Amino acid sequence: MSDSRTTPRETAIDDDIDVEALRAKYAAERDRRIRPDGATQYRKTKGEWGYYARDPYTERQEREPRTDDVEALIIGTGIGGLSAAARLREKGVESIRIMDDAGDVGGTWYWNRYPNVHCDVESYVYMPFLETIGYIPKWRYAPGEEIRQGLTKVAQHFDLYRDALFHTKATSLDWDEETQRWQVTTDRGDRFQARFVIIGTGSFTDPKLPGIPGIEDYKGHTFHTARWDYGYTGGDQFGGLTGLADKRVAVVGTGATGVQLVPMLAKYAKELLVFQRTPSSIGIRGNGPTDPEWAASLKPGWQEERARNFAAVLAGERLVGEQVVEDDWVRTARAQRPMTSGRFLDDEPGLSPEELERRIELDDFRTTNWMRARIDEIVDDPATAEALKPWYRYMCKRPAFSDEYLQAFNLPNVRLVDTSTAGGITRMTENAVVVGDEEYEVDCVIFATGFDFGVSGLMSGELPTTGRNGKQLLEVWMTGPRTLHGCAMDDFPNLFNMGLLQNASSVNLSYMLQTQAQHVAAIIDRARQTGAKRIEASKESVDAWLRLLRETGRDNTRYSEECTPGYYNREGNARSNVGMTFSPGPIAFWEILEEWRAGDMSDVLVPADADARESAAPARTSG
Ligand code: NAP
Repeated sequence: MSDSRTTPRETAIDDDIDVEALRAKYAAERDRRIRPDGATQYRKTKGEWGYYARDPYTERQEREPRTDDVEALIIGTGIGGLSAAARLREKGVESIRIMDDAGDVGGTWYWNRYPNVHCDVESYVYMPFLETIGYIPKWRYAPGEEIRQGLTKVAQHFDLYRDALFHTKATSLDWDEETQRWQVTTDRGDRFQARFVIIGTGSFTDPKLPGIPGIEDYKGHTFHTARWDYGYTGGDQFGGLTGLADKRVAVVGTGATGVQLVPMLAKYAKELLVFQRTPSSIGIRGNGPTDPEWAASLKPGWQEERARNFAAVLAGERLVGEQVVEDDWVRTARAQRPMTSGRFLDDEPGLSPEELERRIELDDFRTTNWMRARIDEIVDDPATAEALKPWYRYMCKRPAFSDEYLQAFNLPNVRLVDTSTAGGITRMTENAVVVGDEEYEVDCVIFATGFDFGVSGLMSGELPTTGRNGKQLLEVWMTGPRTLHGCAMDDFPNLFNMGLLQNASSVNLSYMLQTQAQHVAAIIDRARQTGAKRIEASKESVDAWLRLLRETGRDNTRYSEECTPGYYNREGNARSNVGMTFSPGPIAFWEILEEWRAGDMSDVLVPADADARESAAPARTSG
């Protein structure tokens, strides 16, 4: 179903863009989507809804509680946690414990196994440790299963399975001053001791359900995309969903997941109803098999170079060499700027901030006009085409990419149900999904309704963390998170957080996590080499980092406020990002880290004779 018909983007010229009309249309579309219940509209897949989050892929094994004492304990075995464990192993740390709530490594790629799941970021820059494990992805945009298997290869390569406990969730962290170790409990009754603890629990962990009245009344089959029921559908990620041949299937949600899923369901379901509240923007995918000649031409160090180059292009850095990745992330880079980080050194010099903003907005309109024109070209039914058009600025929602999604709506068994005028699905009954006055009887409802964002690990409230002098992390962070470079903390020694918080963000989250893993491993290694008593960011260094985040922060609140609701703007309740992210971007961030690592790390290393020093320098203590 691949389709190469596309209007050349260059055809959209500024004269064709009615700025005022587009602004008014965007504002009107936003206003009709805003709901008073905002982010509270969703239901958590916990308690009575917990069965939506159960692991369908691996059976939970009973085991006796453990009481290990290890050097490093890592919570989460997605790309972040696994990379940290691998880097520590490289540094010679043998005593490691890794654990995950899932039944194997992989994180998001363990859970998300829905049909046609792919990564939207090029596999060559996304899949970690390719050169180390000697693997070249088969596709430019890898299927989820290839990424998941790649991550199991990483775990095997670094001999991490011997350290792993799955279906195990940490439930508390307590710092013991006397032993200078963390005491860690889990939901399996384990009581571990660990010198270092790394939190790599991810951002999109808990599937969420829409707040549809009567959802509990529905008696047909139902599940969330992150817990795919192949027992019901048959087949696997690559097809063969023969169980749907006689079924009327409803998909709720048209985010990045729905967009990947729909073309595959369209091939197998007797009837497919796609319930859309807000359409995604659909860029070009351009997937294809890896060219073996290209793969053979790669020189050592190629992956690191390519990932940096991709990050640099999106951050608007002046490139030393050539741009190596050419895709719709790169082609839409300027429209992403209001919501991403970067130094944007490639901007024309001398532009006033107003002129720059005007040009970025024009670029945005050019991009989205082009996308709307592409829909008209591809989708046969004009009413369906109209309903599929996104009316918001490009980065209000996570962009999607597909060369099959729009085409699926031309198939006779596929129907788009636009729920926007009803404000989403109105209710569900025993056997139907209801929108306004219209009832759609269906055999199966699949929720592609996304995840609670950023609620896992330290911030979840489900991992009480007690640091030095009995300090509770969430109490200390009540007025805002406190980290040095997003990972080390004051008052919480030998503890490292991985993820986006107070870090630089990047489209390629995988590479960002890999660089963070290298950074954490380097600090732990230095602590071991120097015989440091513990690793604890000094208050001064944390304060200085928070000051730099504020001073360099580019506030995107206004842009976010004008956006259609979504998880990017907390469903219409935008908050300032200043202080939460490093606005100058990933390249500038990595330069800071590299320079810092070349120094003595005295911001975080507490020397072995600290007791004497601490009494002489009270600012360093946390009491
Ligand atoms: P999502 O972006 O949060 O989308 C959820 C969808 O459910 C939206 O279309 C939403 O509509 C819809 N929805 C929610 N409540 C509804 C209701 N009551 N009635 C009708 N529709 C309703 O979730 P996702 O698609 O799973 O993606 C989550 C994130 O995972 C992405 O943003 C991306 O970062 C990541 N992801 C990445 C890849 C990759 O290739 N790397 C692939 C898939 C996902 P509204 O828009 O109106 O709220």
